[in-house]
Amino acid sequence: MIAKNTVAAIKYCLKNDAGEELDRAEANKPLSYLHGHGQIVPGLEKALEGLKEGDKAEVALSPAEGYGELNPELKMTIGKSQFPEGANPAVGMQFGADVDGHERVFTVLAVEGDQVTVDGNHPLAGQSLNFSVEVLELREATPEELEHGHSHDGHHHH
Ligand code: ZN
Repeated sequence: MIAKNTVAAIKYCLKNDAGEELDRAEANKPLSYLHGHGQIVPGLEKALEGLKEGDKAEVALSPAEGYGELNPELKMTIGKSQFPEGANPAVGMQFGADVDGHERVFTVLAVEGDQVTVDGNHPLAGQSLNFSVEVLELREATPEELEHGHSHDGHHHH
C-alpha cells in the first residue's frame, strides 16, 4: 500500500481539460517516486495514498493542486547584463534561479536587443490536470533514498 516512504512505480497519462495529452509514462519506462516527499505534484500524491499494486485511479486536479496558478510576477524582462558573463540568452533556453529561497526554472521567451523576457512559471502552471494512473510496483525506500528524499530508480545518481 502506498504510504510515506514507499517507492512507487506508476504508469500514467496526463491530459488537460481539452483532452490534449500533456505527458505520459508507459509501463516499460514508469515514473518511480518516493511517496510523501513532494517528488510529484501535491494533489496526485494525495490521491495515490493508500493504493495497492495493480490499482488504477482517475485523478482530476485544479491548477493549485497541480503545478500552481500562473504567477504573473515570474514573467519579467531583465537586462542581458544580469546574466552571467559569457551566457548568451536565446529563445527557449532554460536556467535555474533562486526566487524567495526556491529554485525555479526560467525559460527565455524573447530576446530584443539588450532586453530578455523570461518566465519562471512551470509550463503546466495554471492548467487543470487529469491523470489516468496505474500502480505497477511498490517497495520500501532504501536508507539512501530516504536521506536524499527521492527515488533512485530509472535515473543516474547526481
Ligand atoms: Zn539521490
